[in-house]
Amino acid sequence: MQRKKPAEAYRRLLPRHHRWEKFIERLAGPEACNFQTDGWTCFGDLRFTTILLAMGLDDPSIDPFTACFKDRGGYCDCEVIFNMDHPCR
Ligand SMILES: [Zn+2]
Repeated sequence: MQRKKPAEAYRRLLPRHHRWEKFIERLAGPEACNFQTDGWTCFGDLRFTTILLAMGLDDPSIDPFTACFKDRGGYCDCEVIFNMDHPCR
């Protein structure tokens, strides 16, 4: 029987977490919601989640993400930023 060291588990989580942070960062950035002190851009849908495509995900693997967003109250791009404080799975 082999036990996993915590450090190992942590290392495996890290890239995923890092990608998530990057995604939220880009979603809030000028290419998408463009958060400013006086407002932001949102079309009331999840169109900017295509950033995930730009980050190397393919179409089929985006579906679970959008399902998860909606599951947690992220029905549009800005709500994803407001409501999703941690990654899907
Ligand atoms: Zn919105």
